Amino acid sequence: MKETVKTWTVLDILKVTEAAFRERGITNPRLNAELLLADTTGDSRINLYLNFEKPLTENEVSGYRDKVKRRLKFEPLQYIRGKTEFYSLEFRVTPDVLIPRQETEILVEKVLEYIKESGIECPKILEIGTGSGCISIAITANSECNIRAFDVSNEAIKVAELNSAANGTAEKVKFEAKDFFDPEVTFEGFDIIVSNPPYISAQDVPGLNEEVNGYEPYIALTDDGDGLSFYKKIFELYNASQNKPAVFLEIGDGKKEAIVKLLSESDIKNYNIHNDLMNMPRVLEIKGTENI
Ligand code: GLN
Repeated sequence: MKETVKTWTVLDILKVTEAAFRERGITNPRLNAELLLADTTGDSRINLYLNFEKPLTENEVSGYRDKVKRRLKFEPLQYIRGKTEFYSLEFRVTPDVLIPRQETEILVEKVLEYIKESGIECPKILEIGTGSGCISIAITANSECNIRAFDVSNEAIKVAELNSAANGTAEKVKFEAKDFFDPEVTFEGFDIIVSNPPYISAQDVPGLNEEVNGYEPYIALTDDGDGLSFYKKIFELYNASQNKPAVFLEIGDGKKEAIVKLLSESDIKNYNIHNDLMNMPRVLEIKGTENI
């Protein structure tokens, strides 16, 4: 007897997937199911809703199944989709780059506020550890400035360059594959330094959520030490610079005390800590010569 292939409708397949995701403990199971299906059929999410009874082709079903299987193994939605949103812009993401986080948007916001308030015309900015390029691209897309952005990973730089071109900022951001710990790096000539450094300590990595430690690049998460080495080096370069730049750094969860101690050991007093929308300390701002 010939086996009949089940015809799936949009609604049926969404229901089954949602239940499977929920059982696996995936947050927002329905949204995950909808986004993956919309990507597969090339529809918008709204169109899925308008076509609940539409039968899917065999190709669509098998393409969707592959994505669902990956998600059930806790691969992040953003890597499966190959894209995510940050600061209302679209970014391509691959496993070579950290997935941009919503909590990092406040870092962009603080830099943009500073650019406006300081009145520096077209400030020169250095970003350390640019990954997907999201911070530099979001800043340049919303202000007049020139940015140099480093990342130690060649692969990350390729992704960042594609993102910059797609967002129309290629002229203003210069990406460079470079190790920040290279002794020739200085802050001389920069008005602003910005970074969301790898601040998780090596010993905390195994305890992270599987979506993070199973898929995101190790070097983007941790310095393979105590999670403070980037802050230490940034404070050293700040102290060594003649014209002090303003410095904006993301603060990791639970890292505030250690960073404050490091600031005091580095004899840096002119700083503020900004909380995020969840009231967590999130951004360290060190004043530059312009506003000391
Ligand atoms: N700057 C990128 C971001 O904030 C990458 C940061 C990193 O790799 N630690 O998403």
